[in-house]
Amino acid sequence: MQISESKRLFAHAQNFIPGGVNSPVRAFRAVGGDPIFIKKADGAYIFDEDGNAYIEMINSWGPMILGHNHPMIKEAVIKAMENGTSFGAPTAREVEIAELIVKMVPSVEKVRMVNSGTEATMSAIRVARGYTGRDKFIKMEGHYHGHGDSFLISAGSGAITMGNPDSPGVTVGTAKDTLLAPYNDLHAVENLVQANKGEIAALIIEPVPGNMGLTLPLPGYLEGLREICTREGIVLIFDEVMTGFRLAKGGAQELFGVTPDMTTLGKIIGGGMPVGAYGGKKEIMEFVSPAGPVYQAGTLSGNPIAMAAGLAMLRHLDTHPEVYASLNQIGRKITEGIVKINLDLNLNYTVNHIGSMYSLFFTDSPVVDFESAKKSDTALFGTYFQAMLKRGVYLAPSQFESLFLSTALTDGLIEVVLSAHKESMKEILG
Ligand SMILES: *Cc1c(COP(=O)(O)O)cnc(C)c1O
Repeated sequence: MQISESKRLFAHAQNFIPGGVNSPVRAFRAVGGDPIFIKKADGAYIFDEDGNAYIEMINSWGPMILGHNHPMIKEAVIKAMENGTSFGAPTAREVEIAELIVKMVPSVEKVRMVNSGTEATMSAIRVARGYTGRDKFIKMEGHYHGHGDSFLISAGSGAITMGNPDSPGVTVGTAKDTLLAPYNDLHAVENLVQANKGEIAALIIEPVPGNMGLTLPLPGYLEGLREICTREGIVLIFDEVMTGFRLAKGGAQELFGVTPDMTTLGKIIGGGMPVGAYGGKKEIMEFVSPAGPVYQAGTLSGNPIAMAAGLAMLRHLDTHPEVYASLNQIGRKITEGIVKINLDLNLNYTVNHIGSMYSLFFTDSPVVDFESAKKSDTALFGTYFQAMLKRGVYLAPSQFESLFLSTALTDGLIEVVLSAHKESMKEILG
């Protein structure tokens, strides 16, 4: 595999862009080697600047759920382009997409469009604080909610009453309002609630976390959080930027039957364009300006081109329930194949899987939270990643990510992925 043009571009990029990339994980630091630069993508494939083709297992971190360059989305964008690219004024399409989101995600009674998942979560917390008149919120260790200051808080020690900033530039003052609990531990949440009685505005969670590698909620966990939040007047926010429109039409909340007060959305909602959204109960969303006092705005929010792409995507998902049956089947075939190959090789690595998301963890122990995810052999994952890349399979360049499958993965391609997995495993284990 020749990657000289990617290497040249990456070296050049570092003169002008911090680390040569516009988002850190793209730099491949967690897996070694240089990142590949993408020239184009189509269906199940992406192509790099050297002309190599790779089977897509990330799909732009989720948005391309129907595969790349889908004709229906391309057509919607081109058509919208003919009428201008931005107006900074209301459009009919924004009303259409809002109405559709409210229909697909019933807990969302009103919704505000923004430009990224980060904006959605930042805004949702602000609204929850404005609504409750409280400052603190709970987040789970290892969960990612974008790069807003108050979310960049690492796992604290022992008592977990106060977070420490995870990044320079996040003040201790900001961090002190972020309370941390381990995922899947209701008792820890109960303790935080008792220790901060009447002071917690919100609990924000990835209901099915994908940002520490894919992890699943234990039975009763999400229901338990719902009960605590209802009892304590805490706004329960499901961050479904990743899982929304992926695990089901109505996201993880539909699949698990647990109803949050607010929901944040992103990724698929823009059909590949930069879009996020936050919404929830009417009485909470009525706090958003200009209906209410909590300020939140955006020059390019509800951008007509982005809305056209998003609307085409959501309409398709709304009217084609077979997409989810197909995604589930693709996910099952790949993960069952991987588990079988591993067992044949006497390997017992943990595979977490739900619908069209999965993670292969290089550890034998179950992965249920951030602590157990960290037991993975990340060096071995890096070697595996490179072995797969060499065989034309593009995985997420970190152990602590989920993969996002698309409907473009045919049975034939699944076989190619599985045989690449088998060869890679044999290679890396010598
Ligand atoms: C990707 C992601 C975000 C951040 O979205 P951006 O569009 O990258 O700002 C927030 N929450 C979750 C769960 C995500 O997966």
